[in-house]
Amino acid sequence: MPGRRPHLIARLQGLGTTIFSEMTALAVQHDAVNLGQGYPDIEGPAEIRDAAIDAIREGRNQYAPGSGVPALRHAIAEHQHRRYGLRFDADDEITVTAGATEALAATILAVCEVGDEVVTFEPYYDSYAANIAMAGAVRRTVALRPPDFRFDPVELDRAISARTRMVLLNTPHNPTGKVFDAAELARIAAVCVDHDLLAVTDEVYEHLVFDGVHVPLASLDGMRDRTVTISSAGKSFSFTGWKVGWACAPPPLTRALRTTKQFLSFTNGTPFQYAVAHGLSLGEPVFDELTARYRARRDQLCAGLRALGFDVYPTSGTYFATADIRPVGFDDGMAFCQHLPGRVGVAAVPEVVLYDDKRVGAPLVRFAFCKSETLIDEALARLAKLPGTS
Ligand code: PMP
Ligand code: GLN
Repeated sequence: MPGRRPHLIARLQGLGTTIFSEMTALAVQHDAVNLGQGYPDIEGPAEIRDAAIDAIREGRNQYAPGSGVPALRHAIAEHQHRRYGLRFDADDEITVTAGATEALAATILAVCEVGDEVVTFEPYYDSYAANIAMAGAVRRTVALRPPDFRFDPVELDRAISARTRMVLLNTPHNPTGKVFDAAELARIAAVCVDHDLLAVTDEVYEHLVFDGVHVPLASLDGMRDRTVTISSAGKSFSFTGWKVGWACAPPPLTRALRTTKQFLSFTNGTPFQYAVAHGLSLGEPVFDELTARYRARRDQLCAGLRALGFDVYPTSGTYFATADIRPVGFDDGMAFCQHLPGRVGVAAVPEVVLYDDKRVGAPLVRFAFCKSETLIDEALARLAKLPGTS
């Protein structure tokens, strides 16, 4: 091995393998029902799959422009206007990315100097911590406290310093399923405006809201020109493997994130971009059907887990529900999830890895309900074999 230094630079050590890959590997090893990684076991709309196949047959198989194919950028602009009344210029303000993951990375790497601080809410999606570390920036977290996962506004104020560069928000929120309400968003917007901060909002679950409504942070007063709004076709159409995401942002921010984006992936998935453009053009019925389907699965899983004795927090959106495992006799979510696939044949995600405050996250486990009714029933029947369940 050349040299004595570890190959991985110091600030990325500790990232390890993502918890989602780790738990899926255990699920595969034990042939478990995978309520861990958030991907649906139900196919997305056939018409959109056909559009991808058509695009391949029609020869749309070479590099897309770095900003994305015009048809998709226009479809995203139309979607943002139709759904939220937000106007974005398809050429100068919309960028197609390799999933929301790349949009997040490109943005954070583009705008954060070494030592800048990024304020985000805890628990946080794992790639935020990785991107902040890659940028050499510093993470500051504000706690979302159960049962409703509200944050303390004073804590948010205290998290802001002279080095704060941005607030990074995820609504609807993974893993809690929280949908930030108007008052909370107004408070976040006020902090951004008062301290002249950028905002990055991860809205990949924008179409998966069961109670309440999703409000993009960019639609609040003073936010349009300081916000990067990120979303993805993965969750909205149940095609997580296509990795087509996007970022909507004012021209100066768009130019910044395109600069990094062009050296990350440059461009991706040309035929899938055409198919997603077609999907967005189908309008609201596709999303309504998706919401209805997952609302029923949410109710099924949450009721089932509660009946088994888990303390399940209300979830208003996303693919996920959070359960406290203490009432069924466990207190270490990591150990619980590592043994669960082998023990009863179910996989879940320990939330402790998404917390800086490990004590709070320790007993919390995320279960995904983006699965068929049969699979959820099977998972519940298997969980009933745990000794502490009722
Ligand atoms: N943000 C959140 C909150 C997520 O749950 C995910 C996983 N879908 C992503 C970003 C990444 O999305 P994509 O698969 O489009 O890269
Ligand atoms: N977003 C998905 C989840 O939260 C996983 C994506 C991934 O595996 N990185 O489960």
